[in-house]
Amino acid sequence: MKSLLAALPMLMLVGSLMTGSAHAQEEEVEAPLWTIAIHGGAGVILREDMTPEREAEYRAALQSALDAGAEVLRNGGTAMEAVQAAIVPMEDDPKFNAGRGAVYTWEGRNELDAAIMDGRTRAAGAITGVTQVKNPILLADAVLKDGRHVFLSGAGAEEFARDKGLEIVDPSWFETEWRKQSLERLKAEQLSAQDVDHKWGTVGAVALDSQGNLAAGTSTGGLTGKRWGRIGDAPVIGAGTYADNRSCAVSATGAGEYFIRVGVAHEICTQLRMSALEIEIIYPEPIGSMISSNPPKGILHPDAGMVQAVADEVLSEVATLGGDGGVIIVTPGGHAIFSFNTPGMYRGRANSEGLNEVAIFGAEEPSAE
Ligand code: ASP
Repeated sequence: MKSLLAALPMLMLVGSLMTGSAHAQEEEVEAPLWTIAIHGGAGVILREDMTPEREAEYRAALQSALDAGAEVLRNGGTAMEAVQAAIVPMEDDPKFNAGRGAVYTWEGRNELDAAIMDGRTRAAGAITGVTQVKNPILLADAVLKDGRHVFLSGAGAEEFARDKGLEIVDPSWFETEWRKQSLERLKAEQLSAQDVDHKWGTVGAVALDSQGNLAAGTSTGGLTGKRWGRIGDAPVIGAGTYADNRSCAVSATGAGEYFIRVGVAHEICTQLRMSALEIEIIYPEPIGSMISSNPPKGILHPDAGMVQAVADEVLSEVATLGGDGGVIIVTPGGHAIFSFNTPGMYRGRANSEGLNEVAIFGAEEPSAE
């Protein structure tokens, strides 16, 4: 009850059960039909460390990933399709720590992790430790679609990818000289993964489609110098990736061990869902009937301020434990929210109402909707 009282001032009406249908319709029109947000990693990303050319390259890469996802949604595609459409170009782009351009393990390999989750059904697919699948996010989606399992690893995941006809490449496809040098520096100077890179380059996307369904996806090479089959948060459902139509879709980037310990993505979704349930108005059906139902539009949704507050609070828990990073969030009400406790985050967001922006540094918009 205490948290209900705390939440109430932060709730806004996107149409209302209480204020009559004319008002509800009026405000329903204002809620975006679709929304997408993307990230390409958070970290110590400072303008003074970047040449204007490099900055322009990152902005262009983010914009084209955002455009690819938005195009799907604009044409009536699903959130699941949009998330993949946005992530694939970032996996193919050597600037990001996912797919081509992935960081190196201690042994000098590129081992890739990815996950995707459908907020409509809470079906999920995740893979870890693959070295030959060109687009790991598509493999995660194949696991989801197959439906027998949620999480596949290593050689088994690659055998599954071959069975499903996914594109297989030579491991050298993922290699880049600058990432190799990071590994060499990490070893020579006995640095941590964070100290050698100063940023997390994982990529992710979250989306709301015009059917009211949410999806989240994340893809990464993990940490420079990772050993012993280390798995980060990105492919762990509930840590780096989560989607639930009842609350939100989240994709994370950062110090994976801390994101796993906090269960960041699930924690954010749960806190938003519990706030909604407490006031018994966002989702009036009994819980059991909500499993695959879409959240009704035109009634109460948490406003951007509340979503931001929940995300910031969960990120501050990560910081308390000693970790840093960031998240992107899209809600059933169409809000696109960023939260990060690092100086910068490669990020972007777009919606059906004409919002279309990318940002890199902490001080610039977009920081919150
Ligand atoms: N979260 C990723 C991991 O720990 C790293 C990143 O965000 O770049 O594997």
